[in-house]
Amino acid sequence: MIINNLNCCGQKPVISLPSGEKLCKNHFIGYFEGKVFRTIRQFGLLDNEESLGAAVSGGKDSLTVLRILNRLSKDNPKIRINALAIDEGIAGYRDKTLITAKKFCDENNIELHIFSYKEEFGLKLDEMLKILNVKPCTICGIFRRYLLNKKSRELKLTKLATGHNLDDECQSIMMNQMRNDLKASARLGPKVGLISNELFVQRIKPLYLCTEKEATTYAFLSGLLDNFNECQNAAQSFRAKVRDSLNDLENKFPGTKYSIVNSFLQTLPYLKEKFNHGEIRICSKCGEPAANDVCNACIYLEKLKSKITLQK
Ligand code: SF4
Ligand code: ZN
Repeated sequence: MIINNLNCCGQKPVISLPSGEKLCKNHFIGYFEGKVFRTIRQFGLLDNEESLGAAVSGGKDSLTVLRILNRLSKDNPKIRINALAIDEGIAGYRDKTLITAKKFCDENNIELHIFSYKEEFGLKLDEMLKILNVKPCTICGIFRRYLLNKKSRELKLTKLATGHNLDDECQSIMMNQMRNDLKASARLGPKVGLISNELFVQRIKPLYLCTEKEATTYAFLSGLLDNFNECQNAAQSFRAKVRDSLNDLENKFPGTKYSIVNSFLQTLPYLKEKFNHGEIRICSKCGEPAANDVCNACIYLEKLKSKITLQK
């Protein structure tokens, strides 16, 4: 590509990159997809043969990943793809995004498996939050990770692709630093989950090096950005505060997010070496992998049960 005065060609630019380069629609789509394929190659995210799952929420990032991986699977019959969605039970939000996910999967002949908190745990997230005094994202994340891993394994998926982008990773790195929780950072990176443990399905992040701005622009240009929906619980989270601060820094010092993630990638092998030797236990209640005797999902389910019993 010839860069002329930082513009890719004579067409109207749709995005300005942190480098100052401005790209038109066609050049940006090529740039974005090229970056995703490079990320897959650079971090060895895919093997020659895969039965992949893609975690879809109906949001722009997960549909972008599903769209790109689905096209890849069309060119390579040894890569098969299924979609998994979790219905947490968040009225006015998840019901809407699931309609988008179903529509996309129908139009693209992708099998979609939906698992709900109500069916799996007996309560919707909205109901859980009326019983327990916890930050919504804390229990929501624990139950979602639990179900995605369990269901991916039961579906015999080789890997699960998620829509995490560079901004998400950057937020997680900074949140862990602020909480002095480097052990949690050792579980970050473009490819996560212990391959040596058959209870875990590895998770891969093909958008690892794509910024939120790039992913949003790609989704918009590809017709994936139906209507913008954000979970009503998101604003209460620590992540939202870190996100806003990082956006502020990025505006003042373009390239900040790349720098944080790139320097993190250089330290990641040391973090994995230091922290990833911990023994993985089996939860004594449900048989799923756990850091302690009982997994976090079972701990919260017990708390819910005891509160419900007290209320009766
Ligand atoms: Fe769940 Fe929080 Fe995400 Fe809402 S913002 S879906 S509560 S993790
Ligand atoms: Zn358990």
